[in-house]
Amino acid sequence: MNARLDRVRAAMEERSLAAMLVTAPANVRWLSGFGSPEDARVLVTKHDAWLLTDARYTVQAEEQSRIEAIIERDWMAEVASRVRSGPLGVEAEHMTLATAAALAGRAGQEPVRTEGLLTRLRRVKDEAELDAIRRAAALTDRAYEHALTRVVPGVREVELALAIETFVRTNGGEAMAFDVIVASGTRGAMPHGLASDKPIRDGELVTIDLGAKVDGYCADMTRTFGVGAVPDAHRALFEAVLEAQNAAVAAVRPGATGKELDAVARDLLARHGLADAFAHSLGHGVGLDVHEAPRLSSASDDVMAPGMVVTVEPGVYRAGEAGVRIEDLLIVTDEGHAVLSHAPKEWRTVDASDAPTDA
Ligand code: ZN
Ligand code: ZN
Repeated sequence: MNARLDRVRAAMEERSLAAMLVTAPANVRWLSGFGSPEDARVLVTKHDAWLLTDARYTVQAEEQSRIEAIIERDWMAEVASRVRSGPLGVEAEHMTLATAAALAGRAGQEPVRTEGLLTRLRRVKDEAELDAIRRAAALTDRAYEHALTRVVPGVREVELALAIETFVRTNGGEAMAFDVIVASGTRGAMPHGLASDKPIRDGELVTIDLGAKVDGYCADMTRTFGVGAVPDAHRALFEAVLEAQNAAVAAVRPGATGKELDAVARDLLARHGLADAFAHSLGHGVGLDVHEAPRLSSASDDVMAPGMVVTVEPGVYRAGEAGVRIEDLLIVTDEGHAVLSHAPKEWRTVDASDAPTDA
């Protein structure tokens, strides 16, 4: 805990900041442990740190916060009274222009923009964080297997999403890390196709992207499976994505850049004539936020280091036809990596052969 504050203070010193006002919820939670960070901020100075929240959270802050909590609705007054001189850093990627202007007036100084100061520090996870992520990943595996048992003739996408959410919430999950994606048939061509009313039919591919949140930490996993007899062309898309995904996972190790890893999957898919169908980047860091640093993309110079948690998730999307994505969650280790997603990712079909073939 103090180690985290020490790292923030070192980053503040590099930028000659006397104080740092942390407002991004994941960063607030990371520094304080407070579970309702959307309604709180953390102010860090050279020798002190405070959680600033209001009277709705008096008890909760007392129970959860690892730093002194100040209960005061007018949090800007607290910042102004505690930072009387020296530059005050703010999180430019999170603070609105309106808040920055109001703060400048109250504090009597123009806040100093910082970007990514805290998110950079959060890239490498400590043991407690890795433990929470492992538990979130394990719960995600179980929720997926549970959803597969619900694939019966005519089941609607939204029913699978609801089964997943109920399972997560009743088995120790704090929430979903993001809205469950269930995209079947031609809807599979939408990388972020949220579950709809569409019934799942025989012969379709189904892509489910889900993640549980445990103790504030996210998991993220995607699987694609077939229902009944799937056309050979769609099965071929699946095998190409699986090949690319396995190759990219195998390449994850300390020192590899986001760019290099993205290229492993992208080059393989290009060999299958699917370069244009891979419409997004390979992956992203996961922690208190489901999408955070580092990035695994064709433009990313981020270098993998032990303790980082990342996804590897190539996908191909054919408009009007189908889509496939396979996503695993990994920890970068000293030796290479450890895969946290254990739900089988090889080709599997669920038999729902008497599912309606028409809506
Ligand atoms: Zn995902
Ligand atoms: Zn993801």
